[in-house]
Parts: sequence; structure tokens; C-alpha cells
Amino acid sequence: MLNKNNIYKHLFILSLFLLLTNIFSAEKLWCDQCENLIKPGTRYITSNGKNYCDQDCFDKSLPKCVVCGEPVKNGFRSNGKKYCSEKCLKTTWDKCELCGKRINNGYHIGNKNGAFFCKDCMDKPKCFLCGHPDNCKTLSDGRLICSNCDETAINDPAEARNILDEVRVKMNEVMNLNTDHDIKFKLVSIQELNKEFKSISSDESMEQGLFVHEERTKTYVKTKSIFGFEFGREVTTEVINNHSILMLFSLTKDKFIEVAAHELAHDWMQANYPNITDLKISEGWAEFVASQVNDHYGNSHMNTRMMENSSPTYGDGYRYVAGYAKEHGITGLYKMFKEMNKK
Ligand SMILES: [Zn+2]
Ligand SMILES: [Zn+2]
Ligand SMILES: [Zn+2]
Ligand SMILES: [Zn+2]
Ligand SMILES: [Zn+2]
Repeated sequence: MLNKNNIYKHLFILSLFLLLTNIFSAEKLWCDQCENLIKPGTRYITSNGKNYCDQDCFDKSLPKCVVCGEPVKNGFRSNGKKYCSEKCLKTTWDKCELCGKRINNGYHIGNKNGAFFCKDCMDKPKCFLCGHPDNCKTLSDGRLICSNCDETAINDPAEARNILDEVRVKMNEVMNLNTDHDIKFKLVSIQELNKEFKSISSDESMEQGLFVHEERTKTYVKTKSIFGFEFGREVTTEVINNHSILMLFSLTKDKFIEVAAHELAHDWMQANYPNITDLKISEGWAEFVASQVNDHYGNSHMNTRMMENSSPTYGDGYRYVAGYAKEHGITGLYKMFKEMNKK
């Protein structure tokens, strides 16, 4: 959120130095506007050292309102532009996206080009996804969602699974990122997600999804025996890997795609460079992949959030990984991963 005070449009009441005199000219004078001779003995107007034969000519000499084109007599000046009236000036003010009021001082969400709201509207409850104030609906886990985000919110587990699989195919096609893991998937509430976060001791609550990898070693002992006599003992161990992705229900479709790509990027990194423990790298990579997927889905505008994210893990991580990939190419990036992966 950004207070617009710092770019507050400076307003000045425009006071033209008017010296309107109705005098009868004695000498020969010419109108500074129409250049005609002002008949001696007639009334005329002087202003700022100039002479005008009548009101019409005087009006024509005035600056024009940038909105309606009418001459500005007692108007306003804002950012060097002149306006005939408050009504014309107000048409240049930003419109609150919720109540539609035009105001010269309000709040932008996210960044200085983000959605704009008036102070009254900013006091309303805000959507957990887009951050916009609205007459939000309360979801079953207490999160608030605006009507706009609610329109494309994904709540059906089967639909969610389909989109996740589609993103997985896309990532394989366009970025050659794939694993053969059998990934389990669940839509969860914010409480369930936070509980999982705690169990893996992550203090970052930025994510709306989570990739969990569990590795268990199972040992089987087989003994061969005949008539109660043991004569062979065979021990086998099996490593069981569990991969699952948890994601919040009621994410918008676009957000769901982004979060799915982020979590799948974790899966890929875990499979290829399991020893990378620097969160800045793993989260930066996941955000970088998500940004690429956003591009492929025509959602590049969603990447502004990552570029401007102030988090030292997610934001700095994204900028580092994206910058590294830009400079050294994707092969250079994987080379760096390989180095970091060495124990
Ligand atoms: Zn004139
Ligand atoms: Zn005007
Ligand atoms: Zn408003
Ligand atoms: Zn929203
Ligand atoms: Zn992550």
C-alpha cells in the first residue's frame, strides 16, 4: 500500500492578475487581441499592461482550460495545467475503484500503479488474495475474499488437480522441468497449511501452497526356516518417498497456476539438487519458475509482485536467480546449482 501524499498534486487557486478598468480612451489605442483600433471615447479593458476592445477579446486572451477549453478566469492550476473550474479539475483525479468517487488523495495497492482506493473504502475488509478492500465474503477458514477474486476461485479438488497436472505438462514442454514423482495433492484451509509449515519449521508465511517431501526407510527381514530351524536371514531396506503438494482452496485460477508452478519447481529441485539448503536459492528458483509459467499463461503482470517483493528470501531470491539466469543463461544457472549441491 502506498500513500499518495508524496505525489500529491499541488493545487493553487489560479488568480490572474486582473486589472479591469473601464476607462474612456483619449489617445489612439489598438486591441492586443484582435488588433483593431479602439475607438476613442469608448469603454475598453486593460489587464497586465494590455488593452482589449471588449469582454470577448479579453476572454480570448485568457489561457484555456485543459479539460473543456473554456477561458480560465478564476480557476485552478494543478501540475502546471490550468482548469476553469473545480468540476473540470476533478475529472483529472483518480477514481476510487470501489465507490467510484474522484479524489486527489488516496491509496494504491501494491505499488504506485496499483489499484486506487479512497480512505473510506480502505477502511473496509481486504481480500486475502488481491488485497483490495471490498464487501468481502468470509471463507470457511476465516479468510476474506473479494467478489472479483471469488469469481474464479478454485474450490473443486478435481478441477484443482487437473490444473496442477496441466501446469506440470506445460513446465515439461516449455522449460524441460519434470520429475516422475507420484505427487499427491490436497486443497487445504489456511489452518492446515500453517500446521504443515510449522512442522517443517518454516517461518515464511508467504506461500499459498506447500511442497512436502518425506523420506522413510522401511526394513524388511525375511527368514527362511524349515521345521523351526532358521537357516537364512535376508534383510531388505526400501526407501519410501512421499511427495505431496498442499494448496489453499479458493485461490483464483491464475494464482493457483502460479502457486502450482512454484511448488512443482520445489519438487524438481528436490529431485535434481537435493542438497541445496539455502532458502534464498530454492525459493528464488521456485519464484523464477512461477514467473516463467505466468509468462506462458499470459499473466506477466503478476510478476510485478515478485520483482517488488521485499522479502529477503522470496524477493531477494527471485531477483538473484532471475538475474543470474539472465546473465549466464539457464545452463549457467544449473551449473551454479550443481556446485551448490556438492556436499
Ligand atoms: Zn479586440
Ligand atoms: Zn473547464
Ligand atoms: Zn472509495
Ligand atoms: Zn480479491
Ligand atoms: Zn516455496
